[in-house]
Amino acid sequence: MNQSTNQGVKQFTAREFHAHLYYGPHNLPEAKWLATKLRAELGLMTGFMHQQPIGPHPVWSCGVHFPVEKFATVVQWLMFNRGTLDILVHPDTGDDMVDHSAHVVWLGRSYDLKMDAFTTALK
Ligand SMILES: [Zn+2]
Repeated sequence: MNQSTNQGVKQFTAREFHAHLYYGPHNLPEAKWLATKLRAELGLMTGFMHQQPIGPHPVWSCGVHFPVEKFATVVQWLMFNRGTLDILVHPDTGDDMVDHSAHVVWLGRSYDLKMDAFTTALK
């Protein structure tokens, strides 16, 4: 194995992935429908459907955790079924700061996350 090809490549390992559905009053019913489908069609557990910004998320959101081996299935499904929702996908490597910045993937439009949610949570 050529050592030089690994230079600059950081070794992170995702323990699992999160998808956070972003929505608002205008598409809350659509978000509820999508969460129902995620449970029924993909067998995933969906979190509370927040109707206020929570943690680092600047708009209403609902979190979904899924295992690493389901990444392709879940992200592809969300890509094709997200409708008007924007979706944040990020790994859980144990480092919240980098998982919610350098490591994020967006479906739809991207948002500025409230990164101070992580520093204040530690105080
Ligand atoms: Zn998350």
